[in-house]
Amino acid sequence: MTPPEHFLIGISCANIFYSLMGIFRKNWYTYIKIFFIMGLMAIIPDIDSFYGVYTSTDPMIGHRGVTHSFLGVAVLACIVVVSISLLSVFIRVFTGYWKYLLKYFHKKVTGEKSEVIILKYVIAPISPKHFFLFLLFAFISGSSHLLCDLPQPPSVWKGIPLFFPMKDGGQFVRNGGWSLIGWYDIKIMWILAGAAALSLPAVIISRFFDLVRVRFIAIPFFVLIILFNGGVLYWIGKYIAGCRYEGELKWNQYQANVIDELPVEIKNITLKGRTIFISIFRQVQGYK
Ligand SMILES: [Zn+2]
Repeated sequence: MTPPEHFLIGISCANIFYSLMGIFRKNWYTYIKIFFIMGLMAIIPDIDSFYGVYTSTDPMIGHRGVTHSFLGVAVLACIVVVSISLLSVFIRVFTGYWKYLLKYFHKKVTGEKSEVIILKYVIAPISPKHFFLFLLFAFISGSSHLLCDLPQPPSVWKGIPLFFPMKDGGQFVRNGGWSLIGWYDIKIMWILAGAAALSLPAVIISRFFDLVRVRFIAIPFFVLIILFNGGVLYWIGKYIAGCRYEGELKWNQYQANVIDELPVEIKNITLKGRTIFISIFRQVQGYK
């Protein structure tokens, strides 16, 4: 799968996570934070494309190496979540300072004590409950990348080292390479883009009207977002299971037929996007 497809799957996971928070009336993370971390985690295993030895089968230096394993994703999730959480604490030091001033003057003018506890506010992003749940969802989003790489052709790597550092006969065990889908799929791309385009306004509406407080609307609303995004992910799984990759030429022809059936505007965007991505892909692979 291409990075945009992986990213959009991460966004679908983010919408599900955000809606779960809404159902359970939790307000632990902002949507921006969930969107950023889960989107990033869904594409970050492909960071090994830039190591410079794209076709190497050594999992430490080649593409589809250690970052394409559960261990690699767990380490990456830790790095990403710790970095973002520390950045949040850093930002909260400044906003906390203003809250402190507000509290101070409020007490001076009205004589009432404010309820805001500044230290608790500042360190909230690193409190264990918030931190570990976020880590879990970052891991789930990263694992979606691994899952989506399994049905692709084995290529030179013969799959991905899902259970790294597991070895068999001196070689790292690799999984996948099922040859069900090719490197990119236009149907998957547009279905996911449509799901994100519909879910995003729904999320913004829920924030704008603070739906979490109106339970009889909030619960069905968030359940609907979960069912919609879950349904899209289920459709992708079923669609992939029904596909068969029989070489690059046939796959490109199949994709060309799909593109031909698209409405003109979408067809033009698709063709432009595909040209850009093929050129980036060739650069990464070291072609001139
Ligand atoms: Zn990958």
